[in-house]
Amino acid sequence: MLMKDKTGFVAGVANHRSIAWAVAKALDREGTQLALGYLGERELEAIEPLLEQLQTRPLLIQCDATNEDSVGAAFDAAGKQLGHLDCLVHAIAFANREDLAGRFADTSIEGYQLALGVSAYTLNALARAAEPLMTEGGSILTLTYLGSERAIRNYNVMGVAKAALESGVRYLASEMGEHNIRVNALSAGPIRTLAARGIGGLNDMLRVHAERAALKRNNTVEEVGDAALFLCSPLSRGITGGVIYCDAGYRIMGL
Ligand code: NAD
Repeated sequence: MLMKDKTGFVAGVANHRSIAWAVAKALDREGTQLALGYLGERELEAIEPLLEQLQTRPLLIQCDATNEDSVGAAFDAAGKQLGHLDCLVHAIAFANREDLAGRFADTSIEGYQLALGVSAYTLNALARAAEPLMTEGGSILTLTYLGSERAIRNYNVMGVAKAALESGVRYLASEMGEHNIRVNALSAGPIRTLAARGIGGLNDMLRVHAERAALKRNNTVEEVGDAALFLCSPLSRGITGGVIYCDAGYRIMGL
């Protein structure tokens, strides 16, 4: 029970394939009392049948991370019910499908702003709302991908959003460290989720990743959930401002 008496807010469960769901299951398994933030009715419908897989029923809180009032109300509700927060997991991203294929150069300003607003700025919004609830210190974790530092075909504007997100992690970590709040990013290799299905050529991405990764396979969503658990738990208490890879060793490979 690594997370006995700990509380957590996990934002970004859309369905049973979501990375946030794997993270929620790992946190729940180790004793975390959870609040799950969901975007809207469609997500709520998909989440409710999953809840029997958890040991402890979580709070379900509607939260549109791009809407300040919605974020404020969500964290008020979490604070009232949980008392304080030990960890926050931000597993939120969105870009228009047409911006995840073809030429990055053709991205419209609207598509660019949308992708960066939803996928990078929302970490600020959630971290700011969680900070006053982390009265005993805490761990904030976001999900990122290698497309932040390499030009990966079709990932396009989402790569730019992930670069902004990872930079944001460093700024937030430097500001919040004095309150013993840690901020990290977990960089996962490709996983077939709703968001990933929007990326052109996902099957090729998965195939090439499995061929080239040091472990000669793709990472699983459960492995990402366990790595997230580590980063949320006191076991990682000396780690902040980092990008930690759970990618079956894809990133380290050369020729
Ligand atoms: P997913 O579709 O299951 O999750 C994306 C979530 O973002 C959904 O729950 C969606 O409701 C939520 N969301 C979108 N806009 C929102 C808003 N305004 N407010 C609140 N929530 C909003 O897909 P996923 O792959 O589990 O994505 C989770 C995170 O993991 C994303 O940041 C993604 O970029 C990252 N990631 C995914 C992969 C992969 O291959 N699947 C790899 C590395 C990183």
